[in-house]
Amino acid sequence: VLMFCLLALGRAEYLKYKDPKQPIAVRVKDLLSRMTLAEKIGQMTQIERENATADALAKYFIGSVLSGGGSVPSPQASAEAWASMVTEMQKGALSTRLGIPIIYGIDAVHGHNNVYKATIFPHNVGLGATRDPDLVKRIGEATALEVRATGIPYVFAPCIAVCRDPRWGRCYESYSEDPKVVQSLTSLISGLQGDAPADSVGRPYVGGSKKVAACAKHYVGDGGTYKGINENNTIINTHGLMSIHMPPYYNSIIRGVSTVMVSYSSWNGEKMHANHFLVTDFLKNKLKFRGFVISDWEGIDRITSPPHANYSYSIEAGVGAGIDMIMVPFRYTEFIDDLTTQVQNKVIPLSRIDDAVYRILRVKFTMGLFENPYPDASLAGELGKQEHRELAREAVRKSLVLLKNGKSAPLLPLPKKAGKILVAGSHANDLGNQCGGWTITWQGSSGNTTAAITPEIRDQQRTNLRWDVDGTGTTILSGIEATVDPSTQVVYSENPDSSVLADKYDYAIVVVGEPPYAETFGDNLNLTIPAPGPSVIQSVCKATKCVVVLISGRPLVVEPYLGDMDAFVAAWLPGSEGQGVADALFGDYGFTGKLSRTWFKSVDQLPMNVGDKHYDPLFPFGFGLTTKGTK
Ligand code: BGC
Repeated sequence: VLMFCLLALGRAEYLKYKDPKQPIAVRVKDLLSRMTLAEKIGQMTQIERENATADALAKYFIGSVLSGGGSVPSPQASAEAWASMVTEMQKGALSTRLGIPIIYGIDAVHGHNNVYKATIFPHNVGLGATRDPDLVKRIGEATALEVRATGIPYVFAPCIAVCRDPRWGRCYESYSEDPKVVQSLTSLISGLQGDAPADSVGRPYVGGSKKVAACAKHYVGDGGTYKGINENNTIINTHGLMSIHMPPYYNSIIRGVSTVMVSYSSWNGEKMHANHFLVTDFLKNKLKFRGFVISDWEGIDRITSPPHANYSYSIEAGVGAGIDMIMVPFRYTEFIDDLTTQVQNKVIPLSRIDDAVYRILRVKFTMGLFENPYPDASLAGELGKQEHRELAREAVRKSLVLLKNGKSAPLLPLPKKAGKILVAGSHANDLGNQCGGWTITWQGSSGNTTAAITPEIRDQQRTNLRWDVDGTGTTILSGIEATVDPSTQVVYSENPDSSVLADKYDYAIVVVGEPPYAETFGDNLNLTIPAPGPSVIQSVCKATKCVVVLISGRPLVVEPYLGDMDAFVAAWLPGSEGQGVADALFGDYGFTGKLSRTWFKSVDQLPMNVGDKHYDPLFPFGFGLTTKGTK
């Protein structure tokens, strides 16, 4: 038997594409030359997690799987459970004739946000206020490790939208209204993927199995739609598109971004998913982007819409425009059949399919997926680990923008021996509200949606800091309790009634804001602080000296209440480490953040961005008061 095996081994065909010593281009060409049309079209197909049985993956030669929105294996799945799910899928893919690994993708847009106990970083609008590319890069590094801890090698981040209108429900996913700020924070890509070698411009780069492939999205003009309506029309001339919305893509490509996701939106009435000029002529040919272009979730389907939806035409238009990987979560068999027929009938040239598959395989080879297709169990401990939480806390305090500080003398920082403090508002003690959308679920939700600290740290803080938490996370309230001197009395009341207000307090901290939302569900033409926020501000600030902390994905209408407030802090959507807010309120660290957006007076002014002719903001872009910290 041994003899036979040795002989068989000796005769095994040498497969160039399996040889890591061969240059990537050689491996890609070799593999491509062996593939049937079905295998090629399979590579171009990305399906939803719940459809991705090992059998389906093998049968259709599927190239990629995603967790869209909050598609999780189970609500509190551990890192190990995620990794074993990916392992099962990978086994299916590797069981095929050519054994091409899948690439699993997920929306890790502020940390590994679908996963219970992951570190949740501030959303991009807050990171924009830090103006700190190095910090954002370190967040990318930590996120890559947490994502790899669950066996996943690919994230749909960063969103490099330049949000020009805060009425857009995705404004918080944008770093800034100013392309220069967004450009500088493409540093997230270098954190996620590693630093691309200087000579690799345009070539995708992923530095090994502790890094992940990134995705710059949504190409292009997603942040410029009419009235900020999600997925709507961006009406702008070519110069405007190129000077406002395109610049961050240049930086992303220089950093070796592996993939670019196309936007649902239209440019001057034409769907981006069907835009051959921008996807092929400009992005691929002119900018020399050599990674792969991915559609958005059912993005190709939406090229045409009911009652005149025409799926065949949509596929031809989307693939023809230059989209390489199609996010076709559910109707993938229909997609595969239709695309196959169109290629057989020469409606879509085989050369287009080869270009797509070439690009997808190049990314897979570059990132070492053929050599390391399976999750690395030794990384499980990276999920939510303490260093990452410290980093998130640093990001929170640097993202805060101090917009008002005292009526006559500065109010902040508050003393640690503060006597008696009233903490009020719907957002002071609500982890879900502080995280916003894209947290555990697609839309996010109020309440203790995730666990933010490890039991060891919780116990340590209980003893050292008399911190009474139930293991559900570092909210702003618990951060305050942990930061102040033990002599300080902290009274918490979400919506204090007259009996609570009748007491005497030295200070009040009011934390109000928007509920969690994502995408179209966040489109909002009024941008008012939701009730009872305004009345809580007014009643508490009348009764005592108050700091108002606003939790929101964008500026809201605050001018009517500004006079009541003694101090006003924009804290954006800070995520799981709300203690960073207390760090600055009580002076351990100074306030340093600068507005990454224009703060309007009234919604009638919108859209209004820095550089506009009629610029009359409440607080201009770049504004932010500072204080000194003791640490
Ligand atoms: C969003 C993308 C996201 C995708 C997958 C879409 O609805 O527009 O940003 O990456 O879903 O979840």
